Amino acid sequence: MTEFAPVPEFATGPAIPESGYRVTELGEGAYGITSGMVNTMFLVTRNGVVVVDAPPDLGERLLMGIEEVTSKPITHLIYSHAHADHIGSAHLLARDGLTIIAHEITARFIEKAHDANRPLPNETFAGPSNALTIDDERFVFDYTGDWHQAGNLFIHLPERKILTAIDSFTVKNAPFFRLLFAPHVPAYFDAMDQMLEYDFDTVVSGHMAMFGTPEDVQTNREYLRDLRSSATEALRTVDLREASAAVGVPDNNRQAQLKVWMDAVVARAAELMPASWNTRLGGTDIFLADNLNAVAWSVFMD
Ligand SMILES: [Zn+2]
Repeated sequence: MTEFAPVPEFATGPAIPESGYRVTELGEGAYGITSGMVNTMFLVTRNGVVVVDAPPDLGERLLMGIEEVTSKPITHLIYSHAHADHIGSAHLLARDGLTIIAHEITARFIEKAHDANRPLPNETFAGPSNALTIDDERFVFDYTGDWHQAGNLFIHLPERKILTAIDSFTVKNAPFFRLLFAPHVPAYFDAMDQMLEYDFDTVVSGHMAMFGTPEDVQTNREYLRDLRSSATEALRTVDLREASAAVGVPDNNRQAQLKVWMDAVVARAAELMPASWNTRLGGTDIFLADNLNAVAWSVFMD
């Protein structure tokens, strides 16, 4: 098995109790909940509970976590985006009278997925922005670009200073895989700037056990910038023909040349990354090559 660096203590987050979930108060009536692998939030209002997403890794434990702090009914469910790993337990919350809110693009994805565990939203909006007041609590929904999946939302609770930005980054850790599967890398980079324009103290970003701060977003942005400058320099200095010749790829195998070249670009870029990141973020060893591959192709093509 592959050797991984031990998880640094700052990147681990709090221990998850035996129940399999942990509820954290994020201000009066606002709660974060995590299974350790995924996280989300809910808000207890005057008459009920507004929940963002229903990740299968929490499953029934999302309901247990809510019941732990209130006996009020769930009145609203907001979909951050259409991915099953975040909303694939929504059927557990579904009942008559539940309002499910999402961007209309998210609704279209769900429609095509034909997944009984992801009930269709019954309140959708088009365009870049929408706001709702639910029981005197203000929710702002912004669709600023395809930084994770078309239809993905920033969900801002301005009075609570909470920003929910599911799958935007991983608190105290390097981004998962290829920048959390960003479909358009420039939009992913822009998302960090967009997040920092909000007034918030806490960011709920969808994975692992921790909730973040604006400083965590800044750190991720700084990491992205280092990925980009390392990839840019590697692209400038690693030559396709030299890289292919070095490992004996035949001249007529152009696809293999491309593959060998990009692997060499990634390897060179990895060497150029400041070593200090290994003590600033967890998971850098796990995801560095994937992230550099995504960034290098983007620098090359976008
Ligand atoms: Zn996702």
